Amino acid sequence: MSQKILNSLQRIIAKYIGSPERTNLDSVSIDSRSLQNGPQTVFFALVGVHSDAHLYIKDLIANGVQNFVVTHIPDDCKEKANFYVVENTLTALQQFASNYRSLFEFPIIGLTGSNGKTIVKEWLNFLLSPDYNVIRSPKSYNSQIGVPLSVIAINEKHNLGIFEAGISTRSEMDKLEQIIKPTIGILTNIGTAHDEGFASTEEKIIEKLKLFEHAEVLIYHKNKSIDALINPEINSFSWSFNDKSASVFVSKKSVLDKTVLNIEFGKNHFEIKIPFQDEASVENAISCLMVLLYFEYDAATIQNRMELLYPVEMRLKVKNGINNCSIIDDSYSSDFQSLKIALDFLESQKQYKKKTVILSDIFQSGLATEALYAKVSELIISNKIDRVIGIGETISVFENEFDNCVTFKNTAAFVADFENMDFGNETILIKGARSFQFEEIVYLLEEKTHETVLEINLNAISYNLNFFKSKLKPKVKIMVMVKAFGYGNGGLEIAKLLEYHKVDYLGVAFADEGISLKNGGIQVPIMVLNPENTSFSAIIQHQLEPEIYCLKGLYAFLKIAKQKNLEYFPIHIKLDTGMHRLGFEENTIDELIAALKGNTTIQIKSILSHMATSDDLEHMDFAHAQIALFEKLSSKLMSELQINPLRHILNTSGISNFPDSQYDMVRLGIGLYGVSNDAEEQKQLENVGSLKSVISQIRAIGPGESVGYGRRFVAEKPTKIATIPIGYADGISRGWGNGLGFVMIKGTKAYIVGSICMDMLMVDVTGIECKEGDSILIFGENPTVSFIAEKLNTIPYEILTSVSQRVKRVFYR
Ligand SMILES: *Cc1c(COP(=O)(O)O)cnc(C)c1O
Repeated sequence: MSQKILNSLQRIIAKYIGSPERTNLDSVSIDSRSLQNGPQTVFFALVGVHSDAHLYIKDLIANGVQNFVVTHIPDDCKEKANFYVVENTLTALQQFASNYRSLFEFPIIGLTGSNGKTIVKEWLNFLLSPDYNVIRSPKSYNSQIGVPLSVIAINEKHNLGIFEAGISTRSEMDKLEQIIKPTIGILTNIGTAHDEGFASTEEKIIEKLKLFEHAEVLIYHKNKSIDALINPEINSFSWSFNDKSASVFVSKKSVLDKTVLNIEFGKNHFEIKIPFQDEASVENAISCLMVLLYFEYDAATIQNRMELLYPVEMRLKVKNGINNCSIIDDSYSSDFQSLKIALDFLESQKQYKKKTVILSDIFQSGLATEALYAKVSELIISNKIDRVIGIGETISVFENEFDNCVTFKNTAAFVADFENMDFGNETILIKGARSFQFEEIVYLLEEKTHETVLEINLNAISYNLNFFKSKLKPKVKIMVMVKAFGYGNGGLEIAKLLEYHKVDYLGVAFADEGISLKNGGIQVPIMVLNPENTSFSAIIQHQLEPEIYCLKGLYAFLKIAKQKNLEYFPIHIKLDTGMHRLGFEENTIDELIAALKGNTTIQIKSILSHMATSDDLEHMDFAHAQIALFEKLSSKLMSELQINPLRHILNTSGISNFPDSQYDMVRLGIGLYGVSNDAEEQKQLENVGSLKSVISQIRAIGPGESVGYGRRFVAEKPTKIATIPIGYADGISRGWGNGLGFVMIKGTKAYIVGSICMDMLMVDVTGIECKEGDSILIFGENPTVSFIAEKLNTIPYEILTSVSQRVKRVFYR
């Protein structure tokens, strides 16, 4: 491995500066925050729109990293490590992965398509791993960065690879093809996802097919529009429900909750049963079946294995646990590569200092058992895990490899002993292979609440953050507003994520919001927008930074600060430039200057103001007048006090509409949470929160019968009514009832009938196929918060922040 990494590194086009004895390498990293970086890591310093990993090289050298791929060597790092200097570090990473891939000869399955890639990959891994040492891309690592990182995890023991490739625009696939070099291609379902990046569906298909240019076979669902685009030189192995000319002809029927597929493949006729009925799962299962047929498995083996396919949950979930624990649920896979990723995620999300990992036997690593557990132990140590609970026959043998470790032979043994285990105030990663059924452990550790949840997509938050960062000029800092519990999305969890992304400031409305973030371990400076005089002591004690907006507040703060003998305590000065909410007005500036001249008790970290109309282009003149007044007053303060603080005036819509007034910092709010005041921009953001509930009960009522308080809905015909356990006390406006609003059930609108109650509402599900226990969506991707806000004559901010605290937040990525 080490030799192969070195060999691949030396073949990238780079100028090499360093001394070769420092080169015993076994891993590749692009994440400066990973605790796994060390002497054996090659670090690729990627440069993003608003992030530059070169900034962390010095720290990484201090942590022992000795090999870097860079575009330039940072000044104070020369001669302290080995450097490969390249033109573009991402291209170099891709080149490196391609070199590395070429050193292995076994079959590689490459998957692309719009939907189903990850599921087909996971299922194939499940179906083939009894006979192969499979290496597959972890989670959905299918991008220009994810694919090289996946391929680099190949080692000598593997003998089959499964990698997915995802693209969002033209000319991306060529690069991925060169890295994966698939020998067997699978085209999964081509839907409409990511159509924006392409001129037409046809262009999208042509681009995707490039992955298979050099494959020995292409597996796909036969249809005319794809046939027309496939390179005739490629050997195809197709299937169809209706075209007898396909290599495999499939017919299907539903039996109870399963689907029976009748397979005709040349002379072979046989049936298989799969435990799904929805179209997408059936299609994905057939893609897997095709691979088994191509590998010449016999009917009996195919039947046995396919019957055991399971629904794939492809995400790491953060949940609230019992006794103040926070749990990360990764209870569906266990291999070395995904353990590494889960540990990095644990580090980024840990809410408590103490970290526990509950780990099953590890499968499919391609290493000999002893070597594998030695590596797992190294990984656990480098991540500073406080406690390991091992579950499984094999990991039990290696108990001594881990510090502070207890082991159990199986999940049942752990469950039996659960009462005696002590869990509290810690972050627990639960990571196990499917067969260990760790969902039982998750169930025990999870805090029990009712079934309405607000699901928060942490990746979408990262995405939106980067979207707005990309609009900033170089060096402009970013404050993110996490007031009102992160606009209703969750305060501490989101603050943790923002800290991980190295935002410069957080903003809260009141001191207690800031205190709970500080108590949760947040170290990013926090500005308090509306500090009440009674909270000044607490603000000082918790190192929060107050926004001072009037003389009275200033004098009160100075008095307390002097009593405490403070020096240069950071404060922020808010100017009123037209919003007329909070802030020093123009006629108080002279007194403000007089009060602060020569004062060493406080230090003005920043001067800010807030715009009243940044989202409304009809008031352009007013907005410009605000900015001009801000310029004038802040300049006066700066010159008279001889200070050079940060200045900031833009909120989310300001960032979009007034790019010339970014000053030194901007204050991002609603945009982070996926909402824009501009329809075009809205399309470019990712949805963050999805408010979901379930159907508690379904009943049939006849004409003339009514539903709910005041009989405000009366059925005119036989009607099916479903009751959902969410009401106005959870934040659903009563105005959304009585036929105006709806919930989504499996993609269909079910209108709310009658008045919304405190804890429940009723919907009309006549003609909608659904049953008690089914999940329903209140808002999310569709309908969006903005859509509902418009119908209710309000703004998305109100809808978001109304979701009450009794609704459980579930974070995932
Ligand atoms: C809430 C708030 C913001 C963020 O506003 P958005 O419109 O959500 O981006 C910025 N500055 C101040 C002073 C705020 O109160």
